Amino acid sequence: MKLANTAALVTGAGQGIGQAIALQLAAEGADIALNVRADDERARAVRDEIVALGRRCTIYPADVSRVAGTRAMVQQAGADFPQLCILVNNAGVERHAPLLEVSEDDYDLVLDVNLKGPFFLIQHFARWLRAAGRPGRIVNISSVHEELPFPNFAPYCASKGGLKMLMRDAAVELAPFGITVNNVAPGAIRTPINDALLANEAQLKALTAQIPLGRLGTPPDVAKLVAFLASEDARYITGTTSVVDGGLLWNYTEQ
Ligand code: NAP
Repeated sequence: MKLANTAALVTGAGQGIGQAIALQLAAEGADIALNVRADDERARAVRDEIVALGRRCTIYPADVSRVAGTRAMVQQAGADFPQLCILVNNAGVERHAPLLEVSEDDYDLVLDVNLKGPFFLIQHFARWLRAAGRPGRIVNISSVHEELPFPNFAPYCASKGGLKMLMRDAAVELAPFGITVNNVAPGAIRTPINDALLANEAQLKALTAQIPLGRLGTPPDVAKLVAFLASEDARYITGTTSVVDGGLLWNYTEQ
């Protein structure tokens, strides 16, 4: 198994892409530190699936936008899983509003969860690895919208564009410690974040028509790429974004 004798901290792992990543990494041999917002039935069901795969899994409830909480989470996960060497910054939110209508609260929420959260998690995690004297892997789930404009989602685009430059900078600064940092940029994936789109048949049909591979992606499509980047096979890859979008990015025009 590619990830035997490792452990991974995955944020926002109670559903959607984060849940699939936690399960994929576990299937490849990693123990899982499962970050969720609330230690509820949904989180415990994911933990049970991971345990059924033969891995250890502990739930760490924390809001990724709160720096003190994520610092404590990394320290606790490191104490519980001394082989911790993989961080996946997956938690993310989006809010729909034209640029002219965006509220300060929505701007702060999106930037705090999608950019401030990964920033300080990278910092806490890299400090922990440095103190432990161990190399590691960091994978951020960004979006095709780290490149592609998305009208009515300006804070989301700003957060993912910022995550692209954070990744590039962190890759350079953390390389001396043997830590690689990469982004995975999904296109349109079937998860609860897209509930409104999935419920709108006409919109879904128009979007699918713009995806060269002819379908939306699934969470496991993304998770398999993350597992590769987290593995020893990806040892010479850092500072890059890998797109997983069925070809959408270079074939997309806003309707
Ligand atoms: P999702 O189903 O809405 O899942 C997002 C997860 O993030 C949820 O589990 C959510 O927890 C968690 N979360 C939100 N705020 C948090 C916070 N402050 N602290 C900790 N966890 C928090 O969406 P998804 O599609 O799986 O998205 C995962 C990532 O992929 C995001 O970064 C998103 O931007 C990115 N992405 C998704 C798509 C797509 O088409 N689906 C495309 C490109 C990029 P709760 O369930 O408790 O709210």
